[in-house]
Amino acid sequence: MENYINQLNDAQRAPVLHKDGPLIVIAGAGSGKTRVLTYRIAYLMSKGVDSFNILALTFTNKAAREMKARISAIVGSSEAKNLMMGTFHSVFAKLLRYDGDKLGFPSNFTIYDTQDSQRLIASIIKEMGLDKDIYKYKQVQNRISSYKNSLITVRAYFNDAELQEADAMAKRPRMGDIYQNYVDRCFKAGAMDFDDLLLRTNELLNRFPEVLAKYQDRFRYILVDEYQDTNHSQYLIVKALSDKFQNICVVGDDAQSIYSFRGANISNILNFQKDYDNVEMYRLEQNYRSTRNIVNAANSIIAKNKNQLEKVVWTDNDDGNAIKIHRSPTDAEEGRFVAGSIFENRMQHQMSNGSFAVLYRTNSQSRAIEDALRKRDIPYRIYGGLSFYQRKEIKDVLSYLRLVINPKDEEALKRVINFPARGIGQSTLDKLTVAANHYGRSIIEVIENLDKINLKINSGTKNKLVDFTNMIKSFQIMNETTDAFTLAEHVAKKTGILLEFKKDGTPEGIARMDNIEELLNGIKDFVEGQKEIDGATGNIGEFLEDVALATDLDNDTGDDDRVALMTIHLAKGLEFPYVYIVGMEEDLFPSGMSMNTRSELEEERRLFYVALTRAEKQAYLTYTQNRYRWGKLIDAEPSRFLEEIDEKYVENLTPIDKPTYRYKSLIDTDIFGDVDKSKLRQVKPTNGIPPITSKPSENQLRKLRKLKPELAQPIGNTNTIDPNLVEGSVINHTRFGRGRVVKLEGVGNDRKAEIQFESAGLKKLLLRFAKLDVI
Ligand code: ATP
Ligand code: MG
Repeated sequence: MENYINQLNDAQRAPVLHKDGPLIVIAGAGSGKTRVLTYRIAYLMSKGVDSFNILALTFTNKAAREMKARISAIVGSSEAKNLMMGTFHSVFAKLLRYDGDKLGFPSNFTIYDTQDSQRLIASIIKEMGLDKDIYKYKQVQNRISSYKNSLITVRAYFNDAELQEADAMAKRPRMGDIYQNYVDRCFKAGAMDFDDLLLRTNELLNRFPEVLAKYQDRFRYILVDEYQDTNHSQYLIVKALSDKFQNICVVGDDAQSIYSFRGANISNILNFQKDYDNVEMYRLEQNYRSTRNIVNAANSIIAKNKNQLEKVVWTDNDDGNAIKIHRSPTDAEEGRFVAGSIFENRMQHQMSNGSFAVLYRTNSQSRAIEDALRKRDIPYRIYGGLSFYQRKEIKDVLSYLRLVINPKDEEALKRVINFPARGIGQSTLDKLTVAANHYGRSIIEVIENLDKINLKINSGTKNKLVDFTNMIKSFQIMNETTDAFTLAEHVAKKTGILLEFKKDGTPEGIARMDNIEELLNGIKDFVEGQKEIDGATGNIGEFLEDVALATDLDNDTGDDDRVALMTIHLAKGLEFPYVYIVGMEEDLFPSGMSMNTRSELEEERRLFYVALTRAEKQAYLTYTQNRYRWGKLIDAEPSRFLEEIDEKYVENLTPIDKPTYRYKSLIDTDIFGDVDKSKLRQVKPTNGIPPITSKPSENQLRKLRKLKPELAQPIGNTNTIDPNLVEGSVINHTRFGRGRVVKLEGVGNDRKAEIQFESAGLKKLLLRFAKLDVI
């Protein structure tokens, strides 16, 4: 055993060595909370606590695996074998497989992903004859999800007049009925959605005291990372399980609470001391992750939030470079800058690709970055977005496999009963669904009893249905004696799916075939891996569970070296030497949808704090002047967060020229009345007057023109690329090469140059986009 205790500072050592009883560690980013949690587990085990009695809950399964590897290195891998570690969802799915039968669920229940839930809800809305423009399935799914996370069961819903009234006011009076239907259908299909994994666990622990007692006795030590982002349902589970021994250790940072839109409740961390007796609170202050500049800059941002616990974060690390801010004319240019900068840093500092992360507020921003990285041949990986397992062809294969494990799985059945086409049409499926609802059975049970019930289905179709169920049965028999890979390969061939895409012959069809091959490779790897785990068999049930509960970060095997692209939400808890935060613009970050209330804005600011504190050596913040959004080129304004960082810690790579708009002189007019002029930078353009230091949008200019026409004309060009361009200038353009400016016209955004290129001929270019240098 290495002397791991020496790898902790005094403040960290105290919670690691804490004796029994509840403790909370509240500390800023990078101060070693996760390290404390990991080492505490190792410490408990070295003091004789059986790994079987420890439960640790993490933000991703990958984090759990890494922790376990670390603990194994300290205490030995056979010792660590029985540790129960993972996300809330994956841990409690396991528990429900043992004890879910008490709630009427089979141990082989299917886990519906969001897509399955949404499809089921869409079909319920249709079957109920409701207007799909009012009952939008995604909104309905969201709503049901939030009921479940607040532990509002169907019964509770119908007992709550206020809730019903709220839905009626939102013109959705049938919400409760949809909810009821959805729950019934999941139950009949032997399926749980993600929220059920928590809700049903709560139900199990509440209704069955002997089950609660069993798990209380087993999980004598419970540890939770990222406690600030637990939702109510998760909170109650932890509370119930730790109630007997009260050996509960939570770590978190209220300044990093960023999931309130999913029901995470910051008060869980704030109330911890009230929830348990004799809580010991620990604080860590030293940041080990980042340079002093980054730490101080992050502190200066979060200080702007009113609602937060007082916290000190400092570091002994070097000052490092200033945080670099870069402006580009467009999002494509922003991508080029990021790719170019990664390229240079990689060369100059001999860094691997994996040392770089590009973080953004929304998934759709990744495209421009990807394009630029591809052009530079820089390998990257995108996390989140549509995952591999959600692609059509992959879900098709997985649906067959799901039916092998649980033939009642309605969503899987509906997906593949007629794919590849085998003459079972929609009207047949509709009849089966109606009958299934009528008898309170699953569709497969209806098919198995076709001869006993009178359904208007012709005998040819009946035979096809029977063939289908026989095929599934043959897979089930095979499954008893074979591993996941052999079965999956057989299924892909036997069902005709592979052939279907091969016949297709289009590049798309070929790509789909490749993906299925990739899936089979993945299953093979999985089977090999499982063989090493005690008690695991590598069968298809184990594989499906692994896939269903993989979080967006978990698919990273880490064996190839790539730049990471992900949303800030996903980056929580991670660290990278170089971090690029792109799209630092108003309406994007902070998001336009989160600027209505102070608390929404504070959550955006916490998100910015999380983003910046991922960086170890160097952070870049980039923004654009124009960005394509919703298919339109819009004027973008720099994010207010850029101004909020103490300027001591930043360096502008693209200095903002003295404002060249004549309306600057508005400061000297009476337009602003009594406003304190030194505060003008902070005046937001709500009163029709643009802020002074940034470029006004077209809309603002229009208002201004009305207000003071003589002041609304820009003096000159704000384009930073060509301040010295005159007619006759010789220039070099990145694409068209050398040329001479023949004519200049227009002002501001409309400024254009007619350029005679040596080889490309005469071209008229809009200067705000033109990539050219004056020679
Ligand atoms: P976050 O709030 O982002 O989740 P955290 O508080 O969980 O951060 P860790 O990830 O545990 O912080 O630690 C940040 C980095 O500092 C890690 O690379 C960790 O290995 C390192 N570190 C933590 N404590 C020490 C220490 N005492 N000595 C050396 N390195 C340390
Ligand atoms: Mg952490």
